[in-house]
Amino acid sequence: MSERTHRLWDFPGGLRLEGRKDQSFRLPLERMPPPQRIVLPLVQHIGERADPLVKIGDKVLKGQIVARADDYISAPVHASTSGVVVDIDEYAVAHPPELTDLCMVIETDGRDTWVGNRPRPMREYQRIDRATLRQRVRESGIVGLGGAAFPTAVKLAPSGQIGTLILNGAECEPYISCDEMLMRTRSEAVIQGARIMRYILGASECVIALEESAPEAYATLCGALDGEDVDGIRIARVPNRYPAGGERQLIKVMTGLEVPSGGLPEDIGIICHNVGTAEAVFRAVAHSEPLLSRIVTVTGQGVKQPRNLEVLLGTPIADVIAHCGGYADDVERLIIGGPMMGFALDTDAAPVVKATNCILAAARGELPQPAHPMPCIRCGDCASVCPAILLPQEIYWYAKAGDLERAQDYNLFDCIECGCCSYVCPSHLPLVQYYRAAKRKIWGEERDQHTAHIAHRRHSLMHAERK
Ligand code: SF4
Ligand code: SF4
Repeated sequence: MSERTHRLWDFPGGLRLEGRKDQSFRLPLERMPPPQRIVLPLVQHIGERADPLVKIGDKVLKGQIVARADDYISAPVHASTSGVVVDIDEYAVAHPPELTDLCMVIETDGRDTWVGNRPRPMREYQRIDRATLRQRVRESGIVGLGGAAFPTAVKLAPSGQIGTLILNGAECEPYISCDEMLMRTRSEAVIQGARIMRYILGASECVIALEESAPEAYATLCGALDGEDVDGIRIARVPNRYPAGGERQLIKVMTGLEVPSGGLPEDIGIICHNVGTAEAVFRAVAHSEPLLSRIVTVTGQGVKQPRNLEVLLGTPIADVIAHCGGYADDVERLIIGGPMMGFALDTDAAPVVKATNCILAAARGELPQPAHPMPCIRCGDCASVCPAILLPQEIYWYAKAGDLERAQDYNLFDCIECGCCSYVCPSHLPLVQYYRAAKRKIWGEERDQHTAHIAHRRHSLMHAERK
């Protein structure tokens, strides 16, 4: 096994953070059995909601499409196990601005019976035209599994020529280890997914990027590549610095190229996808399996048995925690995602969805407490750590004052919401909360002007596969 060399560049700003990933590696990856009830939100992706195809009382089978996606930027929803539809109504979801959304509830039958009319596997994908493969990805409900949940088939149909496909396995945020676990345990599937995606995109090369702190995953990937044709696929390790896994930062590190402000990676001939997305594409194409489950990191000192679990989509978080031994006595906070970009959740009734990469149950004292905000002292610390080379204090100022035009003049939409600025702010200002609120307000206004699709797509493509 030989290490493949690949020149790396640097990105501005960022932070060195304690990884805290060890706790979720103490136990092996396990598949969680179906829970009693599955709660499937009809929008688990960026884009338009899927429309129900079944009604209350209908029996459904595993892999059956239960909500169809008519819009271009949307994704269908499949039953993740067999059972009976018992409700279609508003339920709690793990999404910060909307705490409820339309969901389909399935009472599971424990048999996990597959639907009968599955499409044929496409193992010899090189003999199949690209449009047909993209359609398979679309019908399989695959979205970016790095957190952005942008429909993958759309990202596999760029408008221009793509030279480089980057598979993002650089899971830079503390605690989250689901991608590393995937690369350790299913490296063959990741590499096959890379080959399929590269073929669909017509990209001349593919680079799989992971952090230096993941030597086992690196060795497993290299081992899988050595047994196969390695032409055009490389593996590169990036330094451990947050947010190295941010799409723009990773592109900079891997290629030295900058995605222009307001532009997309495809504008410079690059597409990024998450490694989990690549595995899902492989399963969809080679095994006719739609996206029914994902690996979730369940971690923090507030859960008794932290680990990585493969969980059926729609499984309530409460069931996932129970499967991991339940909460520790001193649990204090439940966070979806990591401590930098995640969000606190009030209820564990919300289900695991396609974007759920991490459930962090933090114990008392494990994470810093939100401190009382003080006035900005213009120290400039926020700007020095901003990986997007922004002036966070200026954006904050205008966002707080409600001057959204000026906030956009300072490139609000280039902010990747990494949280570095808030992390170092000596005045404890919740800067990212202001940026998110400002973006939501702008989207709302654009929606009123019937241009929300364009704005959302622009933002989503810019930040797709973020970590
Ligand atoms: S780090 Fe905080 S106090 Fe310092 S300039 Fe930025 S916003 Fe102001
Ligand atoms: S949250 Fe936005 S403004 Fe703050 S450091 Fe990250 S990219 Fe810069």
